[in-house]
Amino acid sequence: MVLHLDTAALGLPAIAVHGGAGTFSVIRSEDDLNRLSAGLESAVATGWRVLEGGGSSLEAVVEAVSSMESSGLFNAGRGAVPTSGGSVEFDSSVMDGETGAVGALCSVTYPANPIRAALRLSERGGGVPDGPILLAGEGADRFCREEGLEQMRPEWLTAWQEEPAGTSEEGTVGAVAVDPAGRLAAATSTGGRAGQWPGRVGDSPIPGAGVLAKKETVAVSATGTGEAFLVAGFAHQIAWGLAGGSDLSLAMTEALETVGQLKGSGGAVALGPGGEMVAGFTTPAMARAWRAAGAFETRIFPVR
Ligand code: ASP
Repeated sequence: MVLHLDTAALGLPAIAVHGGAGTFSVIRSEDDLNRLSAGLESAVATGWRVLEGGGSSLEAVVEAVSSMESSGLFNAGRGAVPTSGGSVEFDSSVMDGETGAVGALCSVTYPANPIRAALRLSERGGGVPDGPILLAGEGADRFCREEGLEQMRPEWLTAWQEEPAGTSEEGTVGAVAVDPAGRLAAATSTGGRAGQWPGRVGDSPIPGAGVLAKKETVAVSATGTGEAFLVAGFAHQIAWGLAGGSDLSLAMTEALETVGQLKGSGGAVALGPGGEMVAGFTTPAMARAWRAAGAFETRIFPVR
């Protein structure tokens, strides 16, 4: 397993996003690279504006992910890849480490911005332990309709079109943020794996697997072979590593090793309550960006 790690002491507030892990074989020209980088930059800038304006980390991650969903460049929202049945099914999740609010949807087709639907469920559902915190399929679609959320239009789905504008089956998106008060939040959104069975669900909407925000501990958003991240309990494993005394880099490394032992690969972005950031991946590339008062980075391939 080859592990690539970016680490930074970003301080407060801070935000980090990812646009998926994989080979990024869709990048065939400088133009493709620029388009993908611009999508990341604009997402991280959108989240940063929320934080600078005094918004919460939860609002920041939702706005950042929503920007990537709407760009059509990533495998989430408008850029989501079809299942083997030709349908497009979204999975999304949000988690607020401070309040414990959590909302997630899977195999949902209705919303234009699946991450906003997850946020709405975190507000309207009963939370933990009463629930619901996770809705699937038809019930999830009905919830979105009844909440009056904006509906996805087929003509917006870029991966269905003949010449995709840089969409990538590797482009699950996610964000983690910490606000000036040290409140952590995380969000993840995906179209799943290209050509997946209709109804298949991976790690992205599952708290503790593809998403986690835990008070005064860590915020994590993951991407990769969802089956392995699910079985690893990936994001929980990072939190447990921290509880056991590991620093964030080691906790990330060990959690990715577990995914590797399960023959999976991928990566994640994670932030601690003091603005310590780690972006780690075991694939040839991971689209990622972060922003804080003194830092603004956008990267796709490993930096040596
Ligand atoms: N983790 C996502 C899933 O398994 C896919 C990805 O991140 O590329 O649905």
